[in-house]
Amino acid sequence: LQKERTDFISLFNHIIDRFEFNVPEHIEFVRELPNEKLFVWIDKDKLIQVMDNIISNAIKYSPEGGKIIFKAVKQKHQVLVSVEDQGMGIAHDKLEKIFERFYRVDKARTRKLGGTGLGLAISKELVEAHYGKIWAKSKEGKGTTIIFTLPLMGKKRRYNK
Ligand code: ATP
Ligand code: MG
Repeated sequence: LQKERTDFISLFNHIIDRFEFNVPEHIEFVRELPNEKLFVWIDKDKLIQVMDNIISNAIKYSPEGGKIIFKAVKQKHQVLVSVEDQGMGIAHDKLEKIFERFYRVDKARTRKLGGTGLGLAISKELVEAHYGKIWAKSKEGKGTTIIFTLPLMGKKRRYNK
């Protein structure tokens, strides 16, 4: 991994901007981001890959539209990042499986939406390679929130690749 010191908030804004440019009309983006820089030690391209998958899922699995809410919350030693949609949701007993390779919740329902079922498995690997965690909350028929954490850079510590 090519890790470098990065302000997560400006990277997050940049990625959201790129989607907002041609997001479907029935979807509204809402940003709840802090007005301060939050520095993390990351491989930018890999984090972009993680965010791209989470955001494209939120859009893809919200066929009726709704809001997509982007949050980043500074905690003591980490930033908590979430992407919340008001789409079709995921049944409780399937929530953990979505991070498995090739797993897709409802083959009939999602067949026409395309995809391989690898996006979240790769996202999980990449978040863990940054010493973070990733999980999901959802209510079927109401919506889904994907949450992940990244350690914040301390002031004095030195970092190695
Ligand atoms: P790929 O990302 O490889 O193109 P995919 O989107 O099907 O394909 P994942 O991103 O790994 O694969 O997601 C796995 C499954 O989890 C999806 O097929 C879908 O059933 C479910 N899922 C993921 N995100 C959401 C979401 N925001 N709302 C509802 N279901 C979701
Ligand atoms: Mg996907």
